[in-house]
Amino acid sequence: MVNLSDLPIRDDLRGLTPYGAPQKAVRVALNVNENTHPIPADVAVDIVESLAAAILSVNRYPDREFTELRQSLAAYLNFSVEPEKRLTADDIWAANGSNEVLQQILQAFGGPGRSVLGFPPTYSMHSIIASGTGTRWISGERDAGYEISPETVTRWIAETRPDVVFLCSPNNPTGTPLSIETISAAYDATDGIVVVDEAYAEFAPDDVRSAITLLDGRERLLVSRTMSKAFAFAGARVGYLAADPAINDALRLVRLPYHLSALTQAAAVAALRHAPEMLAMVDNIRSQRDRLLEELPKLGYTPLPSWSNFVLFGGVDDPHATFEALLEQEILVRDIGIPGHLRVTAGTEAETTAFLDALASL
Ligand code: PMP
Repeated sequence: MVNLSDLPIRDDLRGLTPYGAPQKAVRVALNVNENTHPIPADVAVDIVESLAAAILSVNRYPDREFTELRQSLAAYLNFSVEPEKRLTADDIWAANGSNEVLQQILQAFGGPGRSVLGFPPTYSMHSIIASGTGTRWISGERDAGYEISPETVTRWIAETRPDVVFLCSPNNPTGTPLSIETISAAYDATDGIVVVDEAYAEFAPDDVRSAITLLDGRERLLVSRTMSKAFAFAGARVGYLAADPAINDALRLVRLPYHLSALTQAAAVAALRHAPEMLAMVDNIRSQRDRLLEELPKLGYTPLPSWSNFVLFGGVDDPHATFEALLEQEILVRDIGIPGHLRVTAGTEAETTAFLDALASL
């Protein structure tokens, strides 16, 4: 039997653990912050028709510049966030999930001899992508309540001089909001790249400003988004970025040619034609999240404030035992390794009820 350690793997990868959220076939899967509502049937039919047309020319490579997709994403952002300056296709980049977008960013702006500053607890892939690209990961420290003030971000940047700063707004796994003041303070404190990961932005309150509204005049600010969460499209793997067009030129240096398949492009463009319908469940998910925030204290737990589609809650004596007891009832949540805490995604009303009932029965 050959072990990983027997292979001539890069020294800096030895001993690391891969991303490993369990994938189990269970009744109620609330562990990876998906939108648990299936997509509307009429949208599915339209997507399939677009795929049927695209498959006929799948003998050819796809549009390497995914122009129509970038146009559709720009139109979606102009409609949903009202940026100060209207975005065009030139301001948009996309890849197979925002994970790939983040990886391309570190391939272009990080890498050996360079560093990225992040603020754990945060999205676990941020540091994993750092190690995959040979970028040194620097762990900043958050303020009380997992917040990051403008002063804190400025101090960490001044002390560590990173090439790239990763901010997550709202933050995963805590759900914590990040203020627009902290983002602009981070930008002013560095000559490097500032990435705001807005994977869950659509779940924030309606009057909250996206970092996209800061883009005008800030050519080192990058805002990544995804179709995986609010947009109910996780299986299709589409993430994207809004930034200065020059950033796209940097990413063209590291992306693999034709990285977005013709089928992915066709499916995403078709889904974006139905944006309001695809997003119809967001209000419902937000109300299930608010229900979790209201009900968990009644069961003796302490949920953290959340602007996303999940809730991190404390007061769990033995997270591993609670995780296993819920799994016995076919309910999958996430143990993200914060002592005394578990994370649960807001599901459909029925799924959220099943989770709360199971928790109450323990
Ligand atoms: N950023 C954050 C904060 C996430 O939580 C996730 C998914 N869990 C992603 C990015 C990646 O999403 P995707 O690759 O599906 O776009």
